[in-house]
Amino acid sequence: MRTTISAKKVRSDFVSEVEEISGEDLLACNQCGKCSAGCPVASVMDLLPSQVIRMAQLGMEEVLESRTIWICASCLTCVTRCPKGVDLPRLMEALREIALRAGATEIDLNKLPKDLVDELPQLAIVGGFRKYIK
Ligand code: SF4
Ligand code: SF4
Repeated sequence: MRTTISAKKVRSDFVSEVEEISGEDLLACNQCGKCSAGCPVASVMDLLPSQVIRMAQLGMEEVLESRTIWICASCLTCVTRCPKGVDLPRLMEALREIALRAGATEIDLNKLPKDLVDELPQLAIVGGFRKYIK
């Protein structure tokens, strides 16, 4: 993934939007990596949680194309490990929200197998709708 880093990008509307929606200070993260080291689903992510926040810090909107923001289970493990008090799940939620507003659709409801829909707990379906669909 090639990109250009600039002061303009670091102070971009994208960075402000992520901070406004999440309520988090992106620059609080010092890239210690403790979140990534403890994340239980990091092995199936295409970017580690600490990489996601780094890209957001730098105003790299390409982070919205990462599957990691959809895979994060909001389990809060990283929150308990972060020495800087960063709430990564809130950042992940903000990035999903921005991606959804831009028209991204992670799940096509019409393509879900009927058997799966019949078997899934209602709570999981409602929770999934809130996470993946605008
Ligand atoms: S644990 Fe906190 S400070 Fe360390 S990389 Fe993760 S978000 Fe940043
Ligand atoms: S909240 Fe998300 S990023 Fe943090 S440890 Fe859990 S799955 Fe990983």
